[in-house]
Amino acid sequence: MIELIGFDGDDTLWHSEGYYQAANAEFSRIVGQYVDLDDAGVRAQMLATERRNLALFGYGAKGMTLSMVETAIAATGERITAADIHRIVEMGKEVLRHPVELLPGIREAVQAVARQAQVVLITKGDLFHQEKKVEQSGLSDLFHRIEIVSEKNPASYRRVLDEFGLPPERFLMVGNSLRSDIEPVIRLGGWGVHMPYHVTWSHELDHGLGEDESHMLSVDGPDDIAAAVEQLMARAG
Ligand SMILES: [Mg+2]
Repeated sequence: MIELIGFDGDDTLWHSEGYYQAANAEFSRIVGQYVDLDDAGVRAQMLATERRNLALFGYGAKGMTLSMVETAIAATGERITAADIHRIVEMGKEVLRHPVELLPGIREAVQAVARQAQVVLITKGDLFHQEKKVEQSGLSDLFHRIEIVSEKNPASYRRVLDEFGLPPERFLMVGNSLRSDIEPVIRLGGWGVHMPYHVTWSHELDHGLGEDESHMLSVDGPDDIAAAVEQLMARAG
């Protein structure tokens, strides 16, 4: 019996990754004025720096901005100007300031699922930024609870479920990231509805899920979420 449904925030309820990718494109343009991006392997260097810094900064735009500054200094052999560093910092602020834009049909999807079970929002990233997005989304009234976590792994999902006193088999997560939203929940014995977003951060592409997980369904968009949840509920018995 599935009793609790979790929804991811970024790229599930509202658009997010596009803003990060636009900032990355602008970052490449700036650093590209100093070095050949491909020769210097700047994009790979940026991803490696971000991954290394995750343990220190956590997820989100602030960590990305600092990683961009670090990568730009290293990739240009410390030749990048203060004016260009300033531009990078401003880009990071733009990502933090972007207005919250909901995915079409997502409010109706959450409402439909909320008629079947309790719904919670489980999102990861910078606390301040996430709180602001939740508030601006106008969706917070639909959720029984809102959890902002620093990492989405089996341990963090287990902690949330322990607070509900619920075994993982009674939990289903809806999200765009197989790595963060689906795999850890399925590893615990729970259920997942995967709704891919049109762009995905490279870091989120790594996952160990098979092709035909019986505890998971994929949907094309918000309109199909409620039906997929219902189908998995029937499967769970
Ligand atoms: Mg997401």
